[in-house]
Amino acid sequence: MNILITGGAGFIGSYLAQELLERGNRVTIIDNLSTGRLNNINHIYKNKNLNVYIDTIFNEELIEDVIKKSDQIYHLAAAVGVQFIVDNPVETIETNVAGSEIVIRLANKYKKKIFIASTSEVYGKSDSLPFKEGKDRVYGSTSVRRWSYAESKAIDEFLALAYWHEKKLPVVIGRLFNTVGPRQTGQYGMVIPRFVRQALLGHPITVFGDGTQSRCFTYVEDVVGAIIKLMDTKKCLGEIFNIGSTAETKIIELAQKIKKMTNSSSKIKKISYDEAYEEGFEDMKRRVPDISKLKKFIDYSPKVKLEQTLNKVIDYHKGNKF
Ligand code: UDP
Repeated sequence: MNILITGGAGFIGSYLAQELLERGNRVTIIDNLSTGRLNNINHIYKNKNLNVYIDTIFNEELIEDVIKKSDQIYHLAAAVGVQFIVDNPVETIETNVAGSEIVIRLANKYKKKIFIASTSEVYGKSDSLPFKEGKDRVYGSTSVRRWSYAESKAIDEFLALAYWHEKKLPVVIGRLFNTVGPRQTGQYGMVIPRFVRQALLGHPITVFGDGTQSRCFTYVEDVVGAIIKLMDTKKCLGEIFNIGSTAETKIIELAQKIKKMTNSSSKIKKISYDEAYEEGFEDMKRRVPDISKLKKFIDYSPKVKLEQTLNKVIDYHKGNKF
């Protein structure tokens, strides 16, 4: 198949591209390198079945031309990372709303099957755990910049489902829960690469808030396997799926674990959210997926445990930066 990945030079996109190439597909990547990096796709760059365009999803002419020639589209291009979103709210909203609108509209023009990468963030600060796909979303004020991400990805979901219902565009939506692994950068806020780097450098490990907030971390290859299976299973069309591990880890425990695994002398330092991000910043206390729908539709659940993931990430950072 000919497959288009928007955001293919991003952390998740680069694993998806590799897997799809290994399965014998021809892959085209469009990435503007805003948070993606050419380094992420170094290892596949010379593959004769890979085509890379360093360009934005706002280049309608290019997007249309590539979509026309594709059998499937994986739409991953987006503004991501809590720090990035808080620092770049205009780019976040424009990319995630207007950019996605272009990709989805052109996918519809040629009726090409499209995967929409959404996020666990769409549940907002709901405390109705575990999160099931049909549950209510709970967001804070529009003056808290963080929520622009959840809101913008929710709009993508609405739009994709609207095209499915009204115009029969084949769509599948995946809500990803804290995807992690080697090549993820801490530059935009993501906690695991940040803690690992801090620990390896002997710098303070910066725990935001009191550290009792928890997340379910999911290894990137588990996520990619689920995404491809969802796209290749007909009954998944027009559906939303949580994709994530159900094993919860408190952030303070994560810090302690990484400190121990790296044999680090770093101190663990608590920093208030206001200081870390912005005044009035709101975090989610817990975020746990219900993945019964994923299991039911594609008989799939994540396999890689957090310790294995941390080992891979630590090795990666040791090899690359030290
Ligand atoms: N976090 C932290 N220290 C950091 C970066 C993040 O304590 O240096 C916390 C963050 O406040 C959140 C959790 O780790 O509670 C996960 O953050 P991340 O940005 O990786 O993902 P999120 O789940 O917030 O989208």
